Amino acid sequence: MESALTARDRVGVQDFVLLENHTSEVAFIENLRKRFKENLIYTYIGSVLVSVNPYKDLEIYTKQHMERYRGVNFYEVSPHIYAVSDNAYRSMRSEKRDQCILISGESGAGKTEASKKVLQYYAVTCPASEHVQTVKDRLLQSNPVLEAFGNAKTLRNDNSSRFGKYMDVQFDFKGAPVGGHILNYLLEKSRVVHQSHGERNFHIFYQLIEGAEDELLRRLGLERMAQQYQYLVKGSCPKVSSINDRSDWKVVRKALSVIGFSDDEVEVHVHTHTHIYRHTHKGSYIERNSVLKMHTNTQRCSDSSILVGWLSLLGVDFSVLKEALTHKKITAKGEELMSPLNQEQASSARDALSKAIYGRTFTWLVNKINTSLAFKDKFNSKNASVIGLLDIYGFEVFQNNSFEQFCINYCNEKLQQLFIELTLKSEQEEYEAEGITWEPVQYFNNKIICDLVEEKFKGIISILDEECLRPGDASDITFLVKLEDTVGGHAHFVTHKLADGKTRKVMGREEFRLLHYAGEVNYNVNGFLDKNNDLLFRNLKEVMCSSENRILTQCFSREELTDKKLPETTATQFKNSLAKLMEILMSKDPSYVRCIKPNDAKQAGRFEEVLVRHQVKYLGLMENLRVRRAGFAYRRRYEVFLQRYKSLCPDTWPSWDGRLVDGVSTLVKHLGYKPEEYKLGRTKIFIRFPKTLFATEEALEER
Ligand code: ATP
Ligand code: MG
Repeated sequence: MESALTARDRVGVQDFVLLENHTSEVAFIENLRKRFKENLIYTYIGSVLVSVNPYKDLEIYTKQHMERYRGVNFYEVSPHIYAVSDNAYRSMRSEKRDQCILISGESGAGKTEASKKVLQYYAVTCPASEHVQTVKDRLLQSNPVLEAFGNAKTLRNDNSSRFGKYMDVQFDFKGAPVGGHILNYLLEKSRVVHQSHGERNFHIFYQLIEGAEDELLRRLGLERMAQQYQYLVKGSCPKVSSINDRSDWKVVRKALSVIGFSDDEVEVHVHTHTHIYRHTHKGSYIERNSVLKMHTNTQRCSDSSILVGWLSLLGVDFSVLKEALTHKKITAKGEELMSPLNQEQASSARDALSKAIYGRTFTWLVNKINTSLAFKDKFNSKNASVIGLLDIYGFEVFQNNSFEQFCINYCNEKLQQLFIELTLKSEQEEYEAEGITWEPVQYFNNKIICDLVEEKFKGIISILDEECLRPGDASDITFLVKLEDTVGGHAHFVTHKLADGKTRKVMGREEFRLLHYAGEVNYNVNGFLDKNNDLLFRNLKEVMCSSENRILTQCFSREELTDKKLPETTATQFKNSLAKLMEILMSKDPSYVRCIKPNDAKQAGRFEEVLVRHQVKYLGLMENLRVRRAGFAYRRRYEVFLQRYKSLCPDTWPSWDGRLVDGVSTLVKHLGYKPEEYKLGRTKIFIRFPKTLFATEEALEER
């Protein structure tokens, strides 16, 4: 254990519960800063791990470090992601309870890196047999594959995950990893067709163009220049200095093999994912009157070999697709008619098709990985224990917040709700188990905000769905008006309309504000209906269903066409998948990792206080600390406590032969602890204030 006192001034406390003034945000951030400057990026709040992204490689992830954390008590070594990993693993083994590690934080804070460290820890430290080695390899290799197809360079992070991910790692009775399963959430499909300035499309496109062998590119009919492809250069930065697309391609290609894709499958898969290349060959557009034209600088061709090649990838008939991309099927007086689309409509139909293909093949890819990770031994699978890893987007508050932020922040409300229930529950359980009276803690329960969003009929999602279904004049604005009518009076909902009919000046007329548990966020309703509907014209669906490409036929099923039920909206799908996720997480013992990004420049050694304060707020860390400190700041098992401090009392030194609890009692009485300062439970001593413990530490050092 780090010597608590002498080191305290220089490197701060390694557990925030030991802060003298635990309600002070200034003290909290100062402690983070001190530690960060000393390259101590990890700090606890009780059992929650707070991590600050160092933006440089630290020598703390070696095999020796892993060994140091194996089987060691949480508090005896300095805070580390390995300590959290090991603790979850040991609890799973000894208490036979499934675990989960929930990692949160804003973009670029280090969530994905943290989740990879956890996986690596298990891959290295858990027992292995030959079969297990394959599983370990596959678990590890699923990362580069998913990152290639699901991550992209954004302004905030050069390797930003554009989907949420929950991964179960299954262990057998010997504690060896034997399988895994991945659930993916809300891929940002819009990136396929559009990127903001300074951002890129998904990595895989650039990797393929830069890294693929000439022969493969030729077969795909692609050229090496990303500039050739409209979909790849919307953000004007096809090259990123921190990324080597060419070598990444090799890594991904190898990873696909490890996961069990045959060469043939890789090709079909890459074909399908990247159909988009051809599709958007420089300046391509779909002209009214159904002539598909592809423009390049030098040539103009209406029915070129390029186009034919593209169609062969999609495995569909040329004229059928052409018709589908430039017309819309409408029913008038019981008759089906093909109504031509104008250029703008045709472009958006093309974009919708690209997004649908990319989104569905991504899900297909996840399923494929799952098949490869599946625990083969059906007979024993019931006995498998599980550690779940959640790497999901943190709270997002931008200048302009839209449907995506609405979904993401709703997800965070749900996770906060889970956190409250599980933390308070486990605190309470521990007190009960130790026979100590539970003192209720005051806290803000955010269930009211979750309800506002998700409640049947009168929640925001229901109202949005209703507007999406309503024929006629439904628009983003009618949705907003309906919101005002329905939830206008809710304590956590605000619009520019004031009760007296006047308008609130600080808010836009197209905005509503939610008072989230972490703070307020304004959402602009522009695009809500379209994004929630996520429509793909029926005739395009039909064409895809008739495809001869075997991946596409798995992605677009014929049942979908005959199904009379309306497809679920994006928000409802997300709501349902979150409900399932909550159920999964509720059945497990949680550990928390809260990641913080120290600066926006992605630079090592820079700690920007304003930015950090913002995250401390949105991660709810002060509240977290308050709950943790409400009862007792510090608790230790008797044997650990006695071992450390027994030399301070002649009766317990050099050893105590009686009951542990009596030894600790004798020791603390000798040290002058007052009755209100501590309680003795069944197996642990609970100390109310950090200063009591510091005094004891001091005594130890003065000896
Ligand atoms: P997003 O929400 O955008 O996916 P994230 O929280 O997953 O963001 P990461 O991709 O994990 O963020 O981290 C961003 C970058 O920060 C990494 O690519 C890496 O350069 C750096 N980084 C993160 N954690 C560490 C670490 N522990 N050590 C060194 N560098 C790190
Ligand atoms: Mg990430």
